Amino acid sequence: MVNFEILEKSGHEQVIFCSNKESGLKAIIAIHDTTLGPAIGGTRMLNYDNEEAALNDVLRLSRGMTYKAAAAGLNFGGGKAVIIGDSSTQKNELLFRTFGKFVDGLAGRYITAEDVGTDVRDMEYVRMETKYVTGISKALGGSGDPSPVTAYGVYIGMKACAKEKWGNDSLRGRKIAVQGAGAVGRYLCEHLYNEGAEIYVSDINDVKIKSVLETIKAHVVSPEEIYETDAEIFAPTALGSVINDKTIEKFKFEIIAGGANNQLEDELKHGKILLDKGILYAPDYVINAGGLINVANELEGYRQDRAMKQAEGIYEILNKIFAISKEENVPTNIASNKLVELRLQRVGGISKIFSGAKGITRR
Ligand code: NAD
Repeated sequence: MVNFEILEKSGHEQVIFCSNKESGLKAIIAIHDTTLGPAIGGTRMLNYDNEEAALNDVLRLSRGMTYKAAAAGLNFGGGKAVIIGDSSTQKNELLFRTFGKFVDGLAGRYITAEDVGTDVRDMEYVRMETKYVTGISKALGGSGDPSPVTAYGVYIGMKACAKEKWGNDSLRGRKIAVQGAGAVGRYLCEHLYNEGAEIYVSDINDVKIKSVLETIKAHVVSPEEIYETDAEIFAPTALGSVINDKTIEKFKFEIIAGGANNQLEDELKHGKILLDKGILYAPDYVINAGGLINVANELEGYRQDRAMKQAEGIYEILNKIFAISKEENVPTNIASNKLVELRLQRVGGISKIFSGAKGITRR
C-alpha cells in the first residue's frame, strides 16, 4: 500500500483515498506534480483486480500527465483519478456527485476530466459539485469531443517529422498507414487526404472503415497487414503497445507518428531499436497532446480556433525534441522526457506546493 517511501520514489506530492458508504464510491486521486500549475488528468473507472492495481495505475497515469502537460507547454501539472468499479453497471448520479465533492475539496489542486470508463455525462454530474472539471459537452459551454484537435495535432506533428526526415514538411504523395479509423483516425485521414497523401487504413470494425471511405479515398488493409505495408509513415491511432518485438521487425516505415497512447511496449528497449533502425519516432504523449490542450482551453472559456492554434505548437516542440535526440544520440522518447524535466527544473523554483487553488485562472 501507499507510504511515504513510494511517494518519494515516484515523485508524487499527494495521494487521496476517497470512500463513501452511501454512494459506494471508492476512488483514488493522485497528484503527481504541481510545479507548473494545478494537476490535470482524467478519471478512469475500471473494475480493478485489487486496490494495489488501482493504486499502481493512478500513480503511473498521473506521472504521465505531468510529462504530457509540461511537454505541451501548458501551465498544468499531472494528476489522475481512478474509481474502482464496473463502468457498465455501477455508474450513477450519486457516485459522480460524491466524487465531485472530493475533487472540490482539493480546491483546485486537481482538475478532472473524462477517461476510460467515464464520459461527458458523468463529468456533468461532477460539475454539479465542483468547477474543477473539464471536458463538458458543448451544449453546456464545454469543449465537447477532443478528437478533432487531437487529430490536427497529430497531423501537424507528422509534418514536423517529415521536415526532419526529408527536409520538407509536405505530405503530398507520401504513403501513410493509419491504424484505427475511430474518432481521431478519421479526422487524421481527412487532413492527410486533403494534403494529397496516399492513405492505407486498417480497423477491426468494418463500419468505421466504411464511414471513413465516405469522405476520402484510401487503400484498406487488414489489421495484421498494416505493420508491413510499404508506407513511409505509420500512424498508430487505435491502441497501445503496438511497437513491440513482434511488429518492429516488420517495419519498413521511416517515420512513426500517431495518436495512440503508450505506443512503445517497452519505452527503453523499443525506443532504442527505433533509433538504431533510423525510424523517426514522434513521442506519443507529445504528438497526441491536442486532446489535453483542448480540455485545458475549456478552463479559460472554450474556443476551438484557439485550441487548434495551440495544437500547432506541437511542430516546434517536436523540433526541439529532435534536436536533443541528435545532440545527445538518445531516442526521441528519452529526449522528450529530458525536455520536460528541464522545464520542470527551471520553473520549479517558483512555487511547488499549493499552487493549485489559484492556478485555474493562470494562463
Ligand atoms: P476510438 O475508440 O474512437 O477509435 C479507435 C479505433 O481503433 C476503433 O475504430 C477501433 O475499432 C479501432 N481498433 C481497435 N483495435 C484495432 C486494431 N487492432 N487494428 C486496427 N484498428 C483497431 O478512439 P480514439 O478516440 O480515436 O482514440 C484512438 C487512440 O488515441 C487511443 O489510443 C486513445 O487513447 C488515443 N488518444 C485519443 C485522444 C482523443 O482526443 N480522442 C487523445 C489522446 C490520445
